[in-house]
Amino acid sequence: MRVTLPIFFNKVPLTFKRAKSIISTHIDQYTAMTQRMKSFGKPWEIMATVIPILGHLERAEAVARFRLTTGHDFLEVYLHWPGTAANEACPLCGHVRMDGDHLLQCTGLVEYPADDIASRYWEARRQMVKKPSKGVG
Ligand SMILES: [Zn+2]
Repeated sequence: MRVTLPIFFNKVPLTFKRAKSIISTHIDQYTAMTQRMKSFGKPWEIMATVIPILGHLERAEAVARFRLTTGHDFLEVYLHWPGTAANEACPLCGHVRMDGDHLLQCTGLVEYPADDIASRYWEARRQMVKKPSKGVG
């Protein structure tokens, strides 16, 4: 009967690179598993289970995707919830509800490609600063 011993009992010495790879793989797997469990049922569950935000993205695109995925996007629906914005309407086109989904159809952002959600997000934020929501005290 062959017994598999843990790495540290193995008689064959490991190189530093191989040991680092084994430890990193174990940590990545454990982290992914715990993130999936902790995010279950939450709006950002999709980040841990289906579509992780890739690490090689530019910061602006990564931030936009993170905000839109988690719902903490600082668009009118999000800003209206604590009373920071007067209503949920889009200040760019007048649509009744400005959230991440609306950015794909907003007529105020037609000069940006529909598949470039990061550019649309940042342009919407820029225009929102220029046209602040009215009626907030
Ligand atoms: Zn709009």
